[in-house]
Amino acid sequence: MKRLSLATLLWVCLLGWFGVLPSAGASTSATLSVQFHKAHTPAEAHMRQLLSKMVEIQDFAKFVNQEFRLLYPIQIRFGHFDGPLFDLKTHTIDVPYNFMAEMILLFNSARYGRTGLTSTQAAMDTLIYVLFHELGHAFIDMYKIPLFAKEEDVADYFATTILLDSFSGGAEITISTADMFDIANRVPGKAKGAIAHWDDHSGDIVRSQRLLCHVYGSNPKHYQYLANYHKFLKNQDKRCTQRYQQLLASWSIQLTPYLKPSSTRLARTVIVPVTPTPKPKTISKTKQRRTKAAFKARASRHVK
Ligand SMILES: [Zn+2]
Repeated sequence: MKRLSLATLLWVCLLGWFGVLPSAGASTSATLSVQFHKAHTPAEAHMRQLLSKMVEIQDFAKFVNQEFRLLYPIQIRFGHFDGPLFDLKTHTIDVPYNFMAEMILLFNSARYGRTGLTSTQAAMDTLIYVLFHELGHAFIDMYKIPLFAKEEDVADYFATTILLDSFSGGAEITISTADMFDIANRVPGKAKGAIAHWDDHSGDIVRSQRLLCHVYGSNPKHYQYLANYHKFLKNQDKRCTQRYQQLLASWSIQLTPYLKPSSTRLARTVIVPVTPTPKPKTISKTKQRRTKAAFKARASRHVK
């Protein structure tokens, strides 16, 4: 067996320490890609056309590829599939065209347009949240993230933390998703079937409130208006901040080894708080789109 000199060994250790060496089996060129598969019905064809033009999906892929050192390629496949789900064997995130259609129906059922956001915009927000949630499952497998809670909850925590800390427009995306769970909790029957595939999870109302709690906890001053409309937030405003900070710290530790050297996001801003790095530039065009007046409408909306 060839022996390494002390100097070589030291050099290898240093490279490893600074994260230059990829871990065993890692492919530094692995990327996340998006495919739009064949539509089987006119309704699916309509959704295929809509989704393939949506810049938000490309922004999501761009974000993941810019920030994370993937250890294997991941494909997002929109098509005539079951899901949304992450397939451990094929490393694909499958999203049926129908999911988007049913999300639009669900928001329509609550006449969501009154909030200042169309049902299609809100459904797209939910889709992006779902992509982050499924990416969470992929990262749990890829990076061997320890599970000290239900995997579904951990995937939710991942999605929320990344969205709120690092993804432009992430808070709005999270709020739309919280609303989706809230609406789903109210509607019986068909429209709720949209999330049935995606439902080995905590209850809708728990997920809705937890998402709002994390949004509020990420910046209580900015999201004070959420607490004005949701009593449960008023009762536990400090806990929301604490929980969000705990999540951020935990994910920072877990993900730091897998951030690309150029990343200025998540872990680097938390682990080195003495020299905070500037917030990343906007990737997505989304900004806060709901006005305070719109929130009034949102808070008073009920599914009839
Ligand atoms: Zn899941």
